[in-house]
Amino acid sequence: MDIIVLRPGTSEEALKHLIKKLESKGLSANVSRGTERTIVGVIGDTSKVTEEEEDAIRVMTGVEEVMRIIKPYKLASREFKSDNTVIDVNGRIIGGKKIQVIAGPCSVENKEMMISIAGEVKKAGASFIRGGAYKPRTSPYAFQGLGEEGLKYLADAREETGLPIVTEIMDPRDLDVMLKYADIIQIGARNMQNFRLLLEVGSVNKPVLLKRGLSSTIKEWLMSAEYIMSRGNHQVILCERGIRTFETATRNTLDLSAVPVLKQLTHLPVVVDPSHGVGKWDLVAPMSKAAVAAGADGLLIEVHPNPEDAMSDGEQSLKPDDFYKLMQEMRPIAEAVGREI
Ligand code: PEP
Ligand code: MN
Repeated sequence: MDIIVLRPGTSEEALKHLIKKLESKGLSANVSRGTERTIVGVIGDTSKVTEEEEDAIRVMTGVEEVMRIIKPYKLASREFKSDNTVIDVNGRIIGGKKIQVIAGPCSVENKEMMISIAGEVKKAGASFIRGGAYKPRTSPYAFQGLGEEGLKYLADAREETGLPIVTEIMDPRDLDVMLKYADIIQIGARNMQNFRLLLEVGSVNKPVLLKRGLSSTIKEWLMSAEYIMSRGNHQVILCERGIRTFETATRNTLDLSAVPVLKQLTHLPVVVDPSHGVGKWDLVAPMSKAAVAAGADGLLIEVHPNPEDAMSDGEQSLKPDDFYKLMQEMRPIAEAVGREI
């Protein structure tokens, strides 16, 4: 709450009452009387005013509008830190000139598959491998992931290829085991507002890939980043993965406008996941290219050696050859926007 606009004709008494209210919160008022409107500038540390307190001011007599200039998310905001955050993961820089590609299957299925797909995506130019060992499935009867065994296969693939691991955590109780294997901890869309989980990953020294919630606004998403950062872990990477809309032609609606919006609002790196965004393998390439053009710092792409046999998300997984081709095709686009891939 930084500016309060009063209704025309607000009495002096109502204004006085408002100023008193602000003073009771340790703030003061700078009253500017225009011909049509009176505007109150709020002076002091307005970042401490909660949204509830702001709502209470909103209902006071004479108040027409209460505006915030300083964002409710502070650590994540551009105002707080104007330079882009650059995250170094074993020498691989996220948020720099190079667009980093995270690729691999939806789920870790077995050791051989993990090692072979890691080799394939590396050959194509990916910098990270991904694979879920703890899977957030809509049905409790669907494959739930291999758990720690899956993390071990990811570590085997890292050993073979040198590619760092991105993998999802679903439960704070798995944090210790995650820290043993993961190079970047993923918070999935379904857990974007699992605040306890956010606070737990905020307390460790490990980069976090925070996916956008299924129906979350950009502000809510940044507030979740703020939860992680508020505990001291500032290594947060945002991942746009599509949101729920009325459209059914695609699995989700990939909100690519989120990329330039986030670039204005925050210093954190932004990754796009076109695979979950569209849900269909043949739409992944065009949307990956569009994400590069829109200014994404990275991509997360599901690749499977044999999508028809995948244990999850086969429909949206690229075959290694198609992934290789896509990587080639994205290079000139990256170059056109001053990046490399
Ligand atoms: C995933 O990355 O496999 C996944 C489950 O993604 P999301 O949380 O975006 O649905
Ligand atoms: Mn998936």
